[in-house]
Order: sequence, then C-alpha cells, then structure tokens
Amino acid sequence: MKLSRDKLKSSFLQKVAEMSGEDIASCYQCGKCSAGCPLEAAMGILPHRALRLLQLGCEEEALNFDAVWLCASCHTCESRCPRGCDLSRVMEALRMIRLRGGQSPVHPQEVDEEILQRAPQQAIVSCYRKNIS
Ligand code: SF4
Ligand code: SF4
Repeated sequence: MKLSRDKLKSSFLQKVAEMSGEDIASCYQCGKCSAGCPLEAAMGILPHRALRLLQLGCEEEALNFDAVWLCASCHTCESRCPRGCDLSRVMEALRMIRLRGGQSPVHPQEVDEEILQRAPQQAIVSCYRKNIS
C-alpha cells in the first residue's frame, strides 16, 4: 500500500518519531528486525508491523500494541536493520505515551512484598522506569 503524504505526516507519527529520534517513515518493511527479535514469538503484532501501523497513522492500534511492555531493549533489531532504525527507542516512546496517559501493566501497590525484599534494587528501579509512571 502506498503511503499518502497526510499519513506520513500524521501528528501521532511525528510525535513518536520526535520522542524516539527514529526515522519511522524510512522503514520499508523488510522484516529483518522481527526475524531477529528474541521475543518475536510472544509479541503478537511483530515489531515491523507495529512500525507499519505508525506509518499508516493507526494511533489506536499502535497504542494497544502490548509488545511494548515485552521489548527487552536488546537492540538486535537495530543491528539488523538496513535503515538503522532502533526499534527499542520506538518501543520506549510508545511506553512513555501510554504511561503518561495513565496506562500501566504494573501497579506499585500490587508488587508482592517478597519480590520487593528479594529482587535486586537495579531490577526494581529498571522495572519502575519501564513500566510504572
Ligand atoms: S529491542 Fe525489542 S523489538 Fe528490538 S529485537 Fe530487542 S526485544 Fe525485539
Ligand atoms: S529491519 Fe528496519 S527497514 Fe526492515 S522492517 Fe525492520 S525497521 Fe523496517
């Protein structure tokens, strides 16, 4: 499907592109990112398909893309991308938009006391940064 200029210039796409610093419109859907993603089997919508949703201005679908919570920020996708697109930064931008909108898969009051006692501080801080607003 050919992209119209209006879609490529959608405000949501611009917002994610600015937050991530990535040129999302340059993706040409080769799929190399998804083929190398270690979490591909669990993601439902594959990373390259998520980029396509963004390119098409499908804000609602992109914001319901739950793989953003699974992305391990491993940068495998970036190392494989012929366009140098760092999907982990795109995932981070989508997480930030959702967290700022009040969506979070982990609520602090629901974290088990035993986990708080036993988990390394770095793991807890990292989880809070990634998943909790
Ligand atoms: S950074 Fe995220 S999307 Fe990219 S390969 Fe790693 S887990 Fe997959
Ligand atoms: S590897 Fe790069 S160009 Fe290919 S689909 Fe993924 S983001 Fe797009």
